[in-house]
Amino acid sequence: MASWPKHVSNPARPLTAREREILAFLLSVDTAGIEELRQQVDRALAVPWDCGCASIDLVVDRDTAQPSAFNGVIESHTTQKHDPKRRLDLIVWVYDGFLSGVEIADHVEPHGKFSKVFPPASGFDPPHVRDDV
Ligand SMILES: [Zn+2]
Repeated sequence: MASWPKHVSNPARPLTAREREILAFLLSVDTAGIEELRQQVDRALAVPWDCGCASIDLVVDRDTAQPSAFNGVIESHTTQKHDPKRRLDLIVWVYDGFLSGVEIADHVEPHGKFSKVFPPASGFDPPHVRDDV
């Protein structure tokens, strides 16, 4: 199985319910190849980042999962009613047609206390495909 060891040394483990919720939310976009990505969630393990954030790398079993035609980034930002001074981003990364990771990014306080857990998806705007990558 492929992985990206740049910043992860933790063992792979099954996804949590909240991680599945966040992935289902981000993968609710309508774009080519999205169905394969949705199906990969059940064949993915999580590898928590070393920084202490809730962010995870995803390791998909490539022997049993179908690759997606999608490559790039799907993201969402917190709604303004959540806290106008603190925008959190949720980002799912897809490389080589496979889910690669889910990041929570706080631009005010990177890797700070607000990035320690994935908040419920209900606090975020509808996800979209980032078109600048
Ligand atoms: Zn971090």
